[in-house]
Amino acid sequence: MDISILVDDPRILEKARHSHRSPAGGFAGFRGGQFLPVAVVAEESARAYQEVPNLLREFSSSFGMLQQLYHQNALLVSEGKTAVPLVPLGAIENQMKAGIRASYLSAMTLGKRAAGDLRATTDEEQAYLKRLRLDEYQFLRGFTGDMRTGGGRMDYGERAEWYVNAVREVFWLGWVLGQKPGSVISWHNGDTAHCRSCDEFASHGPYSLEDFRRDVLDRGYLPQAGALDCRGFHCRCFLTSSDPIPLDEQPGWLEKR
Ligand SMILES: [Zn+2]
Repeated sequence: MDISILVDDPRILEKARHSHRSPAGGFAGFRGGQFLPVAVVAEESARAYQEVPNLLREFSSSFGMLQQLYHQNALLVSEGKTAVPLVPLGAIENQMKAGIRASYLSAMTLGKRAAGDLRATTDEEQAYLKRLRLDEYQFLRGFTGDMRTGGGRMDYGERAEWYVNAVREVFWLGWVLGQKPGSVISWHNGDTAHCRSCDEFASHGPYSLEDFRRDVLDRGYLPQAGALDCRGFHCRCFLTSSDPIPLDEQPGWLEKR
């Protein structure tokens, strides 16, 4: 296994310099003449997969708290208990957006690292991220509107969890964008019932990276994506790549929902 990736994280370069591992696994090639043992990259990748549950937990609890605060304040006003909310609703909504922004960036960075790409975020990646973020802000406007007027049929706490699910989707975005050219991508149905779109992507694969980006990613699809027929919420699908870092099983954070 030989992998070639780019890195500009000083922490990782430092670690590689002090690595006592045998270079038997090969070296990864870098821009600027920096080389890392494959084992160091594999370790960073494994760590990135492991960090996902923490990110999901933190975002779920902070976003859930803000959602409840919003709803309580909106209720005080709609029930005529106060003329103005104790905490301005706009300020809470802005904090919800800030949480989405920060968590999605972290998720994308973790996805890239999991794919073995240790570089900082590029402009192209930021553009993808921005598109997803703006979609979420639009949904959030509808959500906060419903909380003010008592609209919507779904339980609000459950609805807040959709934003957490989108963090998983953003992880896969980073994962795809971090793939080395020439990678072969497979979509695997997770351990649950599948919708038509997931079945289609699973059976059409494996894809070359270029085909996957054009036929799947650029059409708005990824595991857990809202664009799927199942709307992603119960989706437990995952992606694997031939190169550089193999993932043989469904990540544990795709727990049953
Ligand atoms: Zn699925």
